Amino acid sequence: MATVVQPHKRECPVCMNDFTTPKILPCGHLLCRECVISWMDSKSDAGCPLCTCPIVEHQGNLSQSSVGVVDALPTDSVMEAIVESAGMLIKDDICNACDDLTAEYICMECVEKMCPSCVKIHKKMVATRSHDVESVSTVTPERLAASRPALCADHGDKQAELFCPLHHLVFCALCFSEKHNECPNVRHLEDEMKSAENALGSLTEVLAKWENNLQQAIGNLTVRTQAANAVEEQNMALVDKTCDRLQKIVEECRKRLKKLIRDSIGKFKKSLCDVKSELDKRLGKVTSHKHLVTRATTVRPRPALIHAAQTLTDRVNSVDLSADLEVEPWVSPSPDIRKQCDDVGKAMRAELQWMELELADVEVSSLSNLSPLQHDVI
Ligand SMILES: [Zn+2]
Ligand SMILES: [Zn+2]
Ligand SMILES: [Zn+2]
Ligand SMILES: [Zn+2]
Ligand SMILES: [Zn+2]
Ligand SMILES: [Zn+2]
Repeated sequence: MATVVQPHKRECPVCMNDFTTPKILPCGHLLCRECVISWMDSKSDAGCPLCTCPIVEHQGNLSQSSVGVVDALPTDSVMEAIVESAGMLIKDDICNACDDLTAEYICMECVEKMCPSCVKIHKKMVATRSHDVESVSTVTPERLAASRPALCADHGDKQAELFCPLHHLVFCALCFSEKHNECPNVRHLEDEMKSAENALGSLTEVLAKWENNLQQAIGNLTVRTQAANAVEEQNMALVDKTCDRLQKIVEECRKRLKKLIRDSIGKFKKSLCDVKSELDKRLGKVTSHKHLVTRATTVRPRPALIHAAQTLTDRVNSVDLSADLEVEPWVSPSPDIRKQCDDVGKAMRAELQWMELELADVEVSSLSNLSPLQHDVI
């Protein structure tokens, strides 16, 4: 399986140096062993400094010392190898062969840094002429880590060929016959590498499946949030529309009720006004005749007074104040108002019922069918 090797971040987020014994926290983040210990000692309930996830997975471990907890965390041996290779590529830039000139190249098999002249010699020698020599400036720590040979745990300069699962060591053929020939299941390093690669391949599949499921579940939640927003918007608009209509009904009702009241009182007031103006006319007649009589009494011209007495008596007697004047009784608009109110109540209830029916629901579906995660790690 060919995978693109990307440069990995080698700096510890706590000490900002390259990792030293990188420990894998339960959240998957890495910290140096010493950094986790001092981080945990500085805060009693310290979580991961990057994501705040707990460093102690099970509450039962709380009584343990920070050193105990940290040593129980797995070490990222791949990151260790990358850091080690990175160290080789930067430190000590003097040729490993002549100890004199600047090293510009590195042999990927011997892991020796060499100056250009020593590279020429390396390329001529029978034992090393097939070695892959590269420029120090272009080799990545990842590539160097991948090409470095496995060395025997006991004889540091010999190639390891075998792996003992009991002692968890790689070693040379000599060490096998001397120390591990009684050990069960000793395998060829290449076979063990294949098994490890297969196991990692299966892990990648499982994790990719989980990742996919979680992404789908998250996508699903996003879609549902959008749907909820749409329902919210739609229902808000419906409430506005209904309330606008209710307001219109109320406004029309206000106009009609006022008209009913104005019409009925207006009719009554007109009748009062008509009777009053008739009485005003009669009062005018009486008052002007009273003036004539008063003047005749005050002036007393002889014999006009005698003549006036007769005329004015006739005249006053002829004034007819007897005609009945009646104010039309007030007709209450209450029955009309009651009917109006009934109609308005019905219309408003109908609007509200229509709104209730039209209100959209948010679709409810349970979360359980969104994340069918199975814990089937090998
Ligand atoms: Zn650190
Ligand atoms: Zn974390
Ligand atoms: Zn040299
Ligand atoms: Zn070499
Ligand atoms: Zn050995
Ligand atoms: Zn062994």
